[in-house]
Amino acid sequence: MISNISYMQGVKSLKDIDVSGKRVLIRVDFNVPVDSHNNITDDRRIRMALPTINYCIDHGACSITLVSHFGDPKGGYEEKYSLIHVRKRLERLLQKKVEFIEDFESSQNEIATCSLERVFLLENIRFHEGEKQNDAEFSKKLASICDVYINDAFGTSHRKHASTYGITEFVEIKVAGFLMMREIEAFNKALEHPVHPIALVVGGAKISSKITLLEAVLEKIDKLIIGGAMSNTFLRALGYDMKESLYEEEYIQTARDVLAKAQEHQVKVYLPVDVVITDSIEKSIDIQVVPSQDVLDGFRAVDIGPATVKLFSEAIGLSNTIIWNGPMGIYEIDKFSKGTFKIANAIGDCYAYTIVGGGDTADAVDKASEAENFSFISTGGGASLELLEGKILPGFSNLNRVEK
Ligand code: ADP
Ligand code: MG
Repeated sequence: MISNISYMQGVKSLKDIDVSGKRVLIRVDFNVPVDSHNNITDDRRIRMALPTINYCIDHGACSITLVSHFGDPKGGYEEKYSLIHVRKRLERLLQKKVEFIEDFESSQNEIATCSLERVFLLENIRFHEGEKQNDAEFSKKLASICDVYINDAFGTSHRKHASTYGITEFVEIKVAGFLMMREIEAFNKALEHPVHPIALVVGGAKISSKITLLEAVLEKIDKLIIGGAMSNTFLRALGYDMKESLYEEEYIQTARDVLAKAQEHQVKVYLPVDVVITDSIEKSIDIQVVPSQDVLDGFRAVDIGPATVKLFSEAIGLSNTIIWNGPMGIYEIDKFSKGTFKIANAIGDCYAYTIVGGGDTADAVDKASEAENFSFISTGGGASLELLEGKILPGFSNLNRVEK
């Protein structure tokens, strides 16, 4: 049986087609984080889309229309979700003028009439109702302004929306951009042709959001390292009283099943041996490190402790492939970020193939100044999770395929 990754690797990429003289529409993911003044705090997603955009410019595409969403507006225009905030940075990075199209429906003709070397950026596509509804009429309208459709929005490729999925019904030439191909290649290396031992480091808030991942990869990995609130559910499953810690009562049995399955497949499981506990998350007065078995009354576990950092780091250091998804604690709060940052350092120090999926995890790696030291950091949170879960992402499923 061919894996989801091999299937997605079989799509045509931009380098397989000729874009010269063509009107291309590129679905990018410019959904970048901004601060309260609309300053872009991390432009990685824009930078990662540049190879595809530049390739189209350099190979003589006659017009390039960039389509993206930005945040999740609830219907219609909202200033804070306007892509106008992204345009300047894009112009700076591309070193080229970018024309902003506020309402593509009224500018359809202008875009559709081929004019040499113009780059358009459409306003947030989610201001149109048809986008998230994957509306056929709306998809058709989008399709009408291009000859070639390029999907390079990896971060949104797990969504069946008009600009990521519906549009493919109405365009003949549809391929994946370079970022999409890079992402697939990176996961291919980690999952299909890995160098053993493989460690999966998981954490984050909920076991429920990652259970499919655990079930899908358990047979492929050698070590399972669990931290974050997710480990609270596992520790609870071992019978420890986690007191006020965040854990999922209804997933305790699931945690037991994962442990049993891990044993069956001879996967070594590493759980926190000590945890950082606090009396309150927002207004903590009392913070202590205790063995995982000894969480105090009225306290909650919010990070892994120093002994666990050491334990996890050693297990990580002896691995050749490391996949990380999910922070080890509430890393957004300084006092509870040590565990996550130290694990980021430990993985960054390895001579292994190291890959990060998950929006918060990627953010944590960045904050720990370790981004440079990782082999690959995915630009897709949800998308990378679904990819690890073994799914074929809709953003790839209808693209042209390479003929064998
Ligand atoms: P990712 O986006 O990388 O997939 P998740 O969204 O699954 O990661 O998890 C990240 C969230 O988990 C963070 O907001 C973090 O504060 C939270 N978290 C991690 N550990 C704990 C904990 N012990 N208690 C409460 N929340 C936690
Ligand atoms: Mg998250």
